[in-house]
Amino acid sequence: MKVFVIDEQKCNGCHNCQIACKDEHCGNDWSPISAPQPLTGQFWCKVDERTVGQTPKIRVDYHVSRCNHCENAPCMAAAENDTVYRRDDGLVIIDPEKSKGQRAIMEACPYNAVYWNDELDIPQKCTGCAHLLDAGELPHCVDVCTTGALRFGDYEDFADELVDAVVMKPELGCGPHVYYLNTPKPFYAGDVYDPEADECIEGAKVTITRGSDGARFEQTTDIYGDFWFDGQELGNHELSIEAEGFLSCTKHFDAEESLNLGSFPLKRDY
Ligand code: SF4
Ligand code: SF4
Ligand code: SF4
Repeated sequence: MKVFVIDEQKCNGCHNCQIACKDEHCGNDWSPISAPQPLTGQFWCKVDERTVGQTPKIRVDYHVSRCNHCENAPCMAAAENDTVYRRDDGLVIIDPEKSKGQRAIMEACPYNAVYWNDELDIPQKCTGCAHLLDAGELPHCVDVCTTGALRFGDYEDFADELVDAVVMKPELGCGPHVYYLNTPKPFYAGDVYDPEADECIEGAKVTITRGSDGARFEQTTDIYGDFWFDGQELGNHELSIEAEGFLSCTKHFDAEESLNLGSFPLKRDY
């Protein structure tokens, strides 16, 4: 069974994969696998970006999606005349000939991975570049990903890594064959400064204690007085800041998203 593996930590949002998919499919007829994709309006490979945090402590996360080539594919169940079928390698294909007028195929996909081609009157989506696989090549989007964020191959070859992987909307029970590694977690950041000297404080000890299990994370501020805790959980936390020659300070926060906790002025301890 073939799978896509997407390491979100390695993705830099270059959009090469999205463009490569267009290059491979726009105007190109790969029948019987797929009819040409229109020049606009469809994203069989889609790169979304989301800005998290608050200025100036922000991070841009990227999410690459496509048809999940589901094990229990609702699009297949909604199709008439075996129009949607699964290949031996697991890829789910919509027959471009048989699918004429079958809007139900597009409407059944809970991932919005299917697009409607008005001109041809057919539903269309990622084919896994099955026409390339059959010629012994890689899916075009995978081939152009220079960071190694996007990979494709046999499930067995990735099995060890996939222990920690997640899939989209697992609660639906569709059994997606697109796996995500290192999905971004919340961060908490801020900075520490001396208001009297109007200078940032380097080397302040910053500790974050998680309310749910008491886990503690510690770091020291950098040359700009900044701290940045990655890989955090949401919920209740306590922040404490200590620096030599200054009174320490604490703050409670209940996070529902990544947070810029702000600038912390420390009073001098005379
Ligand atoms: S080509 Fe690779 S790095 Fe670039 S957006 Fe796609 S997955 Fe991310
Ligand atoms: S992601 Fe949508 S189109 Fe792709 S196999 Fe699953 S239900 Fe079908
Ligand atoms: S595998 Fe092919 S069809 Fe699917 S997203 Fe990549 S380039 Fe597009």
